[in-house]
Amino acid sequence: MTDRNFRAILTGSFSTPCADNPTVAMMEAAYAHDGIDARYVNCDVKAENLEGAVKGALAMEWVGFNCSLPHKVEVIKYLDEVAESASIIGAVNCVSIRDGKLTGNNTDGKGFLASLKKVTDPSGKKILLLGAGGAARAIAVELGLAGAKHITIANRKPEKAEAIAELIRKNTKSEAKAVAWSGDIAVPEGTDVVINATSIGLGDKEALPPVDLGTLSQGVVVADVIPNPPATKFLREAKSRDCITLDGLGMLVNQGVIGAELWLGRKLNEDAMVNTLQEIFGVSSD
Ligand code: NDP
Repeated sequence: MTDRNFRAILTGSFSTPCADNPTVAMMEAAYAHDGIDARYVNCDVKAENLEGAVKGALAMEWVGFNCSLPHKVEVIKYLDEVAESASIIGAVNCVSIRDGKLTGNNTDGKGFLASLKKVTDPSGKKILLLGAGGAARAIAVELGLAGAKHITIANRKPEKAEAIAELIRKNTKSEAKAVAWSGDIAVPEGTDVVINATSIGLGDKEALPPVDLGTLSQGVVVADVIPNPPATKFLREAKSRDCITLDGLGMLVNQGVIGAELWLGRKLNEDAMVNTLQEIFGVSSD
């Protein structure tokens, strides 16, 4: 007989395809660093198997899981409750399980907000948000709930930007407007924060969102959601104009920190996560 505990805490992710998602490495590095006996299992769950996967997590007493494409909307029907911002966004990517009860959160926008708050409080700020996909929607809602003064959402397909602007006007106190994005967009005067929430730059260090770079003023906060490569061309251009830059790697790490807080009630070590992702993405730490 031994009094050692051979039962690990279980967490993980449900998505498909999942093989290129590095979150498992990031989370397990942080668990190991902090001496937490927990696993993060990266599961390939096809759309038709989502219900079974959720019931399985419940049956095996997992403390929580992330879900990514294509499950972020569908998973809501299996949950007992959904947090405010996730409910407005209409998508859940982080589920916590406590006493058999499943609660949905959305950490996409919260991860971004945590990065932003390290350099500025969004309350009362004027924001230019580029893109109107899932990431932009989550970020816009969190910025609205955090008291941003005005959010301009620019997208090639303006109807998607308008849908987000309407969501913000309806559910938060922020002003919001949509603009059609064609050609190089000028950053409106008085803008405090510019965010690239498009997929431009993912896996391509020379790709640049069409922005009139001459309108990026010194001191403006410029953020990019792209985690890999973290130093996107957009951020490099912004930095050369003395803007304050925030990368998507930080946003990804914050999502892990927030998820673990919901699951384990513990704040994980960020450095262990950053180092792991940098190693995977093959980037140096400057
Ligand atoms: P979606 O596919 O939902 O949205 C993509 C957006 O990018 C749309 O607004 C699309 O415009 C726009 N876009 C794509 N190509 C172009 C182009 N050439 N010119 C102008 N606009 C373009 O993706 P998500 O919102 O889910 O994800 C966006 C990015 O955010 C991804 O790269 C993802 O890796 C990253 N992400 C990062 C996270 C992090 O933690 N760092 C978390 C979540 C996402 P249109 O509607 O006109 O097609």
